[in-house]
Amino acid sequence: MKNIMLIYPPGRVYQRGEDRCQGNIEDSAATTMRACNDLGYVAAALMKRPYRLFLKDYQGERKKIRHLIRDVEKFMPDLVFMSVTSATIFGDLETINRVKAMMPDATIILKGAVFFDADPKRLKRLDLHHVDYLIGGESDFVGAELIDAHFCMTSPENIPGILYRSGGEWKKTDFAVWDENLDALPFPARSLMNNKLYTRPDTGEPQATISVGRGCPSGCIYCLTPLISGKKLRQRSPQSVIEEMRDCFHTYGIRNFFMKSDTFTMDKDWVEQLCTQILHSELSGKIAWVANSRTRPLERETLSIMKDAGCWLVAFGFESGSAESLERMKKGTTVADSFRAMHLAKVLGLKVFGFYMAGFPWEDMHHLRMTEDLIFALDADFIEIHIPVPYALTELRTICACEAPDGVDELGSDYHRSPALGTEHLSIEELVRFRRNVLRRYYFRGAYIKRKLADPDLTARAFFRYVAYAAKLFRNVCKFK
Ligand code: SF4
Repeated sequence: MKNIMLIYPPGRVYQRGEDRCQGNIEDSAATTMRACNDLGYVAAALMKRPYRLFLKDYQGERKKIRHLIRDVEKFMPDLVFMSVTSATIFGDLETINRVKAMMPDATIILKGAVFFDADPKRLKRLDLHHVDYLIGGESDFVGAELIDAHFCMTSPENIPGILYRSGGEWKKTDFAVWDENLDALPFPARSLMNNKLYTRPDTGEPQATISVGRGCPSGCIYCLTPLISGKKLRQRSPQSVIEEMRDCFHTYGIRNFFMKSDTFTMDKDWVEQLCTQILHSELSGKIAWVANSRTRPLERETLSIMKDAGCWLVAFGFESGSAESLERMKKGTTVADSFRAMHLAKVLGLKVFGFYMAGFPWEDMHHLRMTEDLIFALDADFIEIHIPVPYALTELRTICACEAPDGVDELGSDYHRSPALGTEHLSIEELVRFRRNVLRRYYFRGAYIKRKLADPDLTARAFFRYVAYAAKLFRNVCKFK
């Protein structure tokens, strides 16, 4: 029997399961780590086969490299499957080198958006000599199939979204194929995951991530979703989603959920069906959940039934207060849409997490001030400001490449820590300073603190969580002046 090790490596905490954002959790204002479903999906498919499995999120457990080394010594993996991000790739590869030094015959598979349709020249920048396969597409569908193909010594050439070695070169398979039947995926192997690690931000209760849909028909110039998951919206059936929520609730005692979808509210009929079924199920009134939404299209009825079915927080990508920036980033929304969405949520009693972006190549301080004004005018419950990263193959990357003829690369960069590039008018340091100053002024203002303390939903546990967030945020925003 073969031993398969599926891991998030030790190191800084990143949203490794999210190809789109790959967010840096430690430097973020108020986001929490989501479950390692990418590992869980592959493990679930492998559980039906004769493999011994070991799954661990070392970064989430705050474990060090020595803990991984000890586990490798004990488990003796024949194959290691590791989730990587563009920001952490160099450190992740050093970890693989350590593992290979102990287990020279182990097969290595890396999974991450950094390998999506990757150019061989770009791969040469990475020390991949110990790596056997790269998955850049939707790993949930192909991870187990690739592992089977490897051990059965069959060619992986028909497995979409991967790179494999052939004649000393990396060879790509088809990256423009997306599985339509999302209901066919097993539920992530939560019996192997440490579900307590992934929590709701305010109460600290365990929160399961339920992947409900993939793909986005929009064309935001910075976003990897339409590339990796396609432009067609693919959704699971409401029945399948509820079955997974039931499994979490009854088997693992989890009553909080993050509905992971690139565009949860895009298909209002689907949302209505899902929420109606939740309301008619035994889960009604016993669960709480969170979802992402665009600000357009968005109907009042959609938000209303979501609230009735247990939604307590909606995350909107407001992005910018500049009409020019919204248009040039091809968001397909307006500042008026942002005000309308915020108003609808407030009226219905939903909390809002507002996401903003600052630092597109054309932006100067005037654009940033407009975004700052919008941030304070909308006054969301939680906010985050991202500095755009020019991911390979995005339109933003093409624009940045024209502006920076010496070349631009996102490897090693993330939204907060080390953005790859400034704008035509602003340096990286100015963007980082803008983000930190706005976050500090936003969260530490008297009116915000007073509102949080007066919130009727505030429990003692949530209060102490907020104090901990405030301490982390204070450290983060005061690091670099
Ligand atoms: S709306 Fe834009 S940012 Fe959101 S998933 Fe679609 S393309 Fe990406």
